[in-house]
Amino acid sequence: MRLLKSYPIKFVIIPMVIMALVLLTIGLWRFQQDIKDIHKRIGITPHEIRYQLQQSSLQVALINQEINLTKQYQVQNDKQDLLNRAKQLKSRIENIRVIWRRLESDLDKTDLQDELNTFENHLDTLMKLLTTHDLNSSENFPKIFSELQQVKIVSAAMYSHGSAFIRDHIDRYVKKLSKITMAINTLILIFILVLAALSYALVLIFKQKNELNKLSVEDPLTGLYNRRQFNLHLAHDVSEYKAQQSPFSLMIFDIDYFKLFNDHLGHIAGDQALQLISEHLKALKKTETKIEFYRVGGEEFACLCHEQDCTKTQGIAEKIRASIETLNIEHTISKVSDNLTISIGIASALSLEELNPDSIYSVADQALYEAKKRGRNQVYSAQKTS
Ligand code: GH3
Ligand code: MG
Ligand code: MG
Repeated sequence: MRLLKSYPIKFVIIPMVIMALVLLTIGLWRFQQDIKDIHKRIGITPHEIRYQLQQSSLQVALINQEINLTKQYQVQNDKQDLLNRAKQLKSRIENIRVIWRRLESDLDKTDLQDELNTFENHLDTLMKLLTTHDLNSSENFPKIFSELQQVKIVSAAMYSHGSAFIRDHIDRYVKKLSKITMAINTLILIFILVLAALSYALVLIFKQKNELNKLSVEDPLTGLYNRRQFNLHLAHDVSEYKAQQSPFSLMIFDIDYFKLFNDHLGHIAGDQALQLISEHLKALKKTETKIEFYRVGGEEFACLCHEQDCTKTQGIAEKIRASIETLNIEHTISKVSDNLTISIGIASALSLEELNPDSIYSVADQALYEAKKRGRNQVYSAQKTS
C-alpha cells in the first residue's frame, strides 16, 4: 500500500496505465462503431439487390421467350399473361429502386439509378405496345421487338453493372474491415507492451526498494543489523522496559588486538574475519531466540538480550566469547590467545537507576573497557549504579 503512494508509481505508472486503458477503450469503441457501420453496409441489402437483379433478368428472358414463341409459331399467347409478367417485373424494379436507395455506400450509385429509370421507361412502352397492339399481327412485331430488344439490353447492362457495383462495394468494406482488425490487434499489442514495460518497471522499483530497505537496516559487509537499526531497537527496548518492566541487557563486544591482526595479515583478511564472526553470530541467534546481534562500529558488535535472569545472561555472553575463540581464526601475534578473541561488557537495564539508551550504552562500554583492562578475552558485567 505504501508502495502505491510512492512517487514513480503515483505520478508515472498509475497515470500511464490509466491513459493506456482510456486510449484502448476509446480506440475499441470507435472501431466497434465502424464495424457496426460496415456490417450495416455489407449485410443483407447488397445480396438482396443482386438477387432481385438476377430475378428481373430471368423475367425479361421469360417475356422474351413468350414473345418469340408467338412470332415463330404463331401461337395464340395469352396477352394478359404477358402483361402480368411485365407488371410483376415493374414492381420488382420498384423494389430494387427502394433497396438501392437504402443501400449506404461510398461508391457512386447514380449509374444504376439511371439504368433503372431507362429500363422502366422501355418496359412501360413495351407494356403499352402489348396492350394496344395485336401480338399475332406481323406488322406490329418490329415495334414490339425493337422495344423488347431495348428492355433486354438495359436489363443485361443493369445486371452486369449492378453485380460489379455490389462486388466493389463488398470488397471495399471487407478491406476496411481487415484494416480495422489489424488496427485493433496493433492497439492490443501496444497495450500488452505498455503493460509489460510497466510490470518490468514495477519489478525494478520493487527490487530497488528492497535493496534500499536492506541498506537502511543491514550492514553491507556482514549482513548483521546496522548501527541505525541498533539505535531503534535499543530505544524500543528502553521504552518497553519503562512501560512493562520487561528486562533486557546490552552486551558490547570488541575484537581483541584487531589492529595487530590487520597489520599482520592485511585488511582483506581482517574483513573476512569480521564476516566469519558475523556468520557465526547469525547461527548462534538461531539457537538463542532471546538475542539479537548488531555491528555498531568497525570491529565492535552489540547484542540485545531479553533474558530475565542475570546469571543466564552472563552464561550466554560467556558462550558467545568461548565460541568465537573456538572458531579458530588464527591470530598468532595476539597477546591473549593463538586465535582471534573478543572481550564483552554487559549492562543490565535492571542495574541502572536512570535508564535511557545513552546511559545503558555508556555503562556497557565501560564494562567492555574493564574487560579489556582485566586482560581481554573475557566477559565483564557492570555492577549496579546509583
Ligand atoms: P583492543 O584489543 O584494545 O580492542 O585492540 P584493537 O587493536 O582491536 O583496537 P583498536 O580500536 O585500536 O583498533 C581497531 C582496529 O580495527 C582498527 C582498524 O584497523 C580495525 N578495523 C575497524 N574496522 C575495520 C573493518 O571494517 N575492516 C578491517 N579489516 N579492520 C577494521
Ligand atoms: Mg575497537
Ligand atoms: Mg579491538
